[in-house]
Amino acid sequence: MSTSSKRNSLKTIGEFGLIRQLTHQWPASSPEIVKGIGDDAAILKARKGQQLLISTDVCIEGVHFDLAYQTPKDVGWRAGVANLSDIAAMGGTPLYLLVSMGVPVRVPPQNVRALYRGLKDACGPCNVALIGGDTSSSPSQIFLSLTIVGSVRANRALTRNRAEVGDRLYVTGTVGDSNAGLRLLQTHSNHLRRFRPSAVERFLIRRHVRPTPRVHVGQLLVDRKLAHAAIDLSDGLSSDLGHVCEDSQVGAEIQGKALPLSSQLRAFARRNNLNPVELALQGGEDYELLFTAPVQHHQKVLHVSRQTKVPISCIGEIKPKIFGQQLELPEGRKQKLANTSFHHFSHR
Ligand code: ADP
Ligand code: MG
Repeated sequence: MSTSSKRNSLKTIGEFGLIRQLTHQWPASSPEIVKGIGDDAAILKARKGQQLLISTDVCIEGVHFDLAYQTPKDVGWRAGVANLSDIAAMGGTPLYLLVSMGVPVRVPPQNVRALYRGLKDACGPCNVALIGGDTSSSPSQIFLSLTIVGSVRANRALTRNRAEVGDRLYVTGTVGDSNAGLRLLQTHSNHLRRFRPSAVERFLIRRHVRPTPRVHVGQLLVDRKLAHAAIDLSDGLSSDLGHVCEDSQVGAEIQGKALPLSSQLRAFARRNNLNPVELALQGGEDYELLFTAPVQHHQKVLHVSRQTKVPISCIGEIKPKIFGQQLELPEGRKQKLANTSFHHFSHR
């Protein structure tokens, strides 16, 4: 280790030095923050007529990310989006963030700062304020735990349990790109420096490392009372639809040919002899919104799409529970929707 990197190591700057560096680059400013970082707890004013939404997520090196093929800034961005997306799926407005982390002492502080920059960049468009956290050393891996606080008009949050038979099923953006992007990164992880991705591959990788939270769409769905139920796509379309069906006690039918697949995903699937519909149904971490809305709101849903410039596709319909969850294949045959997404603690 050179003298300058020694001076700039976590051991030298210490816990409080690191906290200062990280929080300095993200000053909190909002009239509702009575006290931000710096005391034993943050103090916030409650908004009249609103309810608070609070969600937390962990992000562990080797489980959720791998610095072999992601930059620290990407890791921060994705961790931020995972949290923003949870608030988006409730139709809320993200407001505050708390970040707890464990960092091995070997990690250069500039990497931790870069991670925070990615996190801040992801939160920037939503003006989310950093109001606290906790910092610890960690034996071997980076560990992040983010807690996000948002707000929503009282009793209007979009939950998973209100889908109704006859509702249309919608999804934002395109699905499956992130899955393809991750596969590309993993395939090339041991020769990344020599990897020259094509335009198609760059698009898919970008969709994996820089997903977009659909906050505005969620807010408009709530403001205009358009949706019955919503969830964000973190585990994969088939698995996340399964949560909605189970919680709402309904079934669903998805039209394979209606799934919004990017031309890049189709090209990737062709080249690798994979089924693009399967990639879309099973791929996780798209952070798109899946929601249900009554048929009579169809035009208004399309208007939200035009207004936010986020594609919104109708991909199927909510059916009675007895119907189960089915996929109508592009050629017309129907099959049971397989749920083979990633689950922690199982080997699937
Ligand atoms: P305590 O001893 O009460 O846990 P700390 O010394 O850990 O307090 O933290 C001091 C302040 O810095 C607190 O306001 C805390 O919320 C904030 N903080 C600590 N770590 C982080 C972090 N990684 N990111 C943002 N804020 C942090
Ligand atoms: Mg602490």
